Amino acid sequence: LQEELNKMKGQESISKDGYKVEVLGNIGTCQDVDMVMENDGEGVGLYRTEFLYMHNDRLPTEEEQFAAYKIAAEKLGKKPLIIRTLDVGGDKGIPYLNIPEEMNPFLGYRAIRFCLDMKEIFAVQLRAILRASAYGNVKIMFPMISGIEEVRRAKAMVEEVKAELRKENLDFNEDIEIGIMVEIPSVAIHSRAFAKEVDFFSIGTNDLIQYTLAVDRGNQKVGHLYNQFHPAVLSLIKMTIDNGHAEGIRVGMCGEAAGDERMIPLLLAMGLDEFSMNASQILKARHVIKNTSKEAAEGILNAVLELPTAPEVESCIDENIP
Ligand code: PEP
Ligand code: MG
Repeated sequence: LQEELNKMKGQESISKDGYKVEVLGNIGTCQDVDMVMENDGEGVGLYRTEFLYMHNDRLPTEEEQFAAYKIAAEKLGKKPLIIRTLDVGGDKGIPYLNIPEEMNPFLGYRAIRFCLDMKEIFAVQLRAILRASAYGNVKIMFPMISGIEEVRRAKAMVEEVKAELRKENLDFNEDIEIGIMVEIPSVAIHSRAFAKEVDFFSIGTNDLIQYTLAVDRGNQKVGHLYNQFHPAVLSLIKMTIDNGHAEGIRVGMCGEAAGDERMIPLLLAMGLDEFSMNASQILKARHVIKNTSKEAAEGILNAVLELPTAPEVESCIDENIP
């Protein structure tokens, strides 16, 4: 089987009937880019920068962050590197930040909410990302967006930092693309309006499922309720892709669902542009894509979208996709 998968290296990610998509890798450190390249990933769709903050007992400096982002950007060359700004909180605690304990951390002071409040910390990261953008195909992505005001405030911060860098004569990509994670239902539901504000979407199913179904993604007791094939989850994903495309922006996915063999045909049918996953899943995903006809998958998707429960969706997929 590995031999079969190795044949996928150097090939395009293109469906049986000629529809082209991209398969990228998710990383947690700049060294992880090597694994993505070994598996012939077409770029990095999610760089989880929180590890830079977690594996230390103090904040990473601008130079430390710049060095890490630059290494990743240079290793990737022309291939895209989507750097996600700090996603602290929820299940990702950073002890030295002294964030007060919360009753509901997943509904609390997390990610962009923290960054828009702790502007000095956010500005340091934005400076490092922008400076690294002079060395590759870097894009910025904001996590845990729930409202348009957050997008606007975060984009205004990027503009402020750009102005600073200009003054200091430091190089960066003036046209750097800015995108958001679609991982809170409000954004998926209202995605047409969000799409007017950004250059791309990346659907974060890990959180989108948790927030749509009100199931803590780490709580085993309710784990049986956590299901990516829940009809409501599928319809939010489809809505996000349709609305993104209606406004002419690219839509990717960097949650676990993007690398799921049974999910890929449905996502292909919905028109997802970019699939980003653990490096070890890339070749397998490309294999699935190459063996799926988008047109046939659209037929299955239409049937699936009529079904009322996740188990029925799963049976329908299993019966129709070999
Ligand atoms: C997600 O929520 O799907 C996602 C990719 O982000 P994380 O798993 O880091 O929360
Ligand atoms: Mg998330």
